[in-house]
Amino acid sequence: MDSQEHIVMLPFLAHGHLIPFLALAKQLQERTGFTITIASTKLNIQYLRSSISTDSDFKILFAELPFCSSAHDLPPNSENTENLSLDRVIKLFYASQSLEYPLLRLLNDIIDQEGRPPLCIISDIFFGWAVDVAKSVGTVNVSFSTSGSYGTLAYVSFCLNLPHRFTDSDEFLVPGFPETADGTDVWSKFMQQQFSRCLESYGWLCNSVEEIEPLGLDLLMKYIRLPVWAIGPLTPPAALKSSSSSHASISRQHAGKKPGLPLEKFLDWLDLQSPDSVLYISFGSQNTIGASQMMQLAIGLEGSRKSFIWVVRPPLGFDLNGEFRAEWLPEGFEERIKQSRRGLIVRNWAPQLEILSHKSTGAFLSHCGWNSVLESLSQGVPIVGWPMAAEQAFNSKMLMEEMGVSVELTRGIQSVIEAKEVKRVIESAMDEHGKGGDMRKKAAEFKELIKLAVREEGDEKGSSLKAVDDFVGTILYKRKE
Ligand code: UDP
Repeated sequence: MDSQEHIVMLPFLAHGHLIPFLALAKQLQERTGFTITIASTKLNIQYLRSSISTDSDFKILFAELPFCSSAHDLPPNSENTENLSLDRVIKLFYASQSLEYPLLRLLNDIIDQEGRPPLCIISDIFFGWAVDVAKSVGTVNVSFSTSGSYGTLAYVSFCLNLPHRFTDSDEFLVPGFPETADGTDVWSKFMQQQFSRCLESYGWLCNSVEEIEPLGLDLLMKYIRLPVWAIGPLTPPAALKSSSSSHASISRQHAGKKPGLPLEKFLDWLDLQSPDSVLYISFGSQNTIGASQMMQLAIGLEGSRKSFIWVVRPPLGFDLNGEFRAEWLPEGFEERIKQSRRGLIVRNWAPQLEILSHKSTGAFLSHCGWNSVLESLSQGVPIVGWPMAAEQAFNSKMLMEEMGVSVELTRGIQSVIEAKEVKRVIESAMDEHGKGGDMRKKAAEFKELIKLAVREEGDEKGSSLKAVDDFVGTILYKRKE
């Protein structure tokens, strides 16, 4: 293949997007030898660089796009959704549109140096404006959804078909949307604008695995009427290694994130637990739950007598960077858990993939963010769902109804949960027989399917690798047209 070709990638400014973009960059480079540039803001590039510093074979270029958060009424250095409350996150979405001109300048610089435009621009589906930038410099834009096919389809079609009026007879209410979404709120407006532009791109890449969501993929292709390449799972490389209980086999740096405890502490503690006995609890890099939800979750968890690792973040309405307050949890909770060694309560961030890939981890209480879903399934770990925003409720629906790997605890950031329901659902999900056992068996099957999708032996390739190669072949052909 022509090693002089150049692809420019433009991820949205959130960890859940940076990670799959980076994994795709790595894969494209390994399979083609092309020059790959990831363009983003200074801080996000720092995150990306820090997450690949140990991987010396991976030579990727990073281009810094100027961005000033305070010019958009955001706190200084707010270049990523992390640590931004919901009302500020939407400001970051709108502010991200200011990257248009810096991207254009970068592309023109590349044209000056290389004598032709890059082969294509791979941009996040939240950056629909990149379609026109690509066209203006004579190249194609391919939109990349870091979500799965079904979640992408449901979210995109929901946003493009507003107003949608929820009624009592609606079978499936979507949390995170206003009860009557009429399309005039700031979120809907932004998404409509971006998604409708993405329908003009050359095709879509999706962090999906054909075998795990065939229906979603088929529906997505029919809906957008563009080529879709299912190239997932774009998880950090360690996710595809086999299960392990040893410390040495896993090495992953977290993009600029510091776990609340050193990795060894997690692994030492997990090594002491029996197989499939630990519930891992995390709501991703952005979401938090409310103070009363946190209290009920803690009481239910304690009542269940199951072992757990809980990544605790300040509840909704509190400063995400502020001091942690003991009163958010039941009196003496942390001390009792510590004394009994029944759990690890960790502030803000945990090495998720390492935890999920440990043989002691038996289930994942998750907000059903797509990276978390793929990381969990790639390790054969079933899910207890608590979807909160974006397309998470759709992901959860598919996990429960189509795949049978999940049970939903509740839905939405405003939901009322009770400790006894928490206890019941956790006990059922962790049970090795009945529902829990069924979910675990299914999750193990999906783990195998995911492995097959990325397997390569001689001329035999899994579906996701075929899709990547087909994508590259198609855009190369397009260049020659
Ligand atoms: N993550 C992590 N530790 C944490 C929380 C999150 O490593 O304590 C990582 C997780 O492994 C995943 C990403 O952050 O790769 C979260 O992405 P996801 O799509 O699940 O949710 P989002 O944060 O985008 O809502």
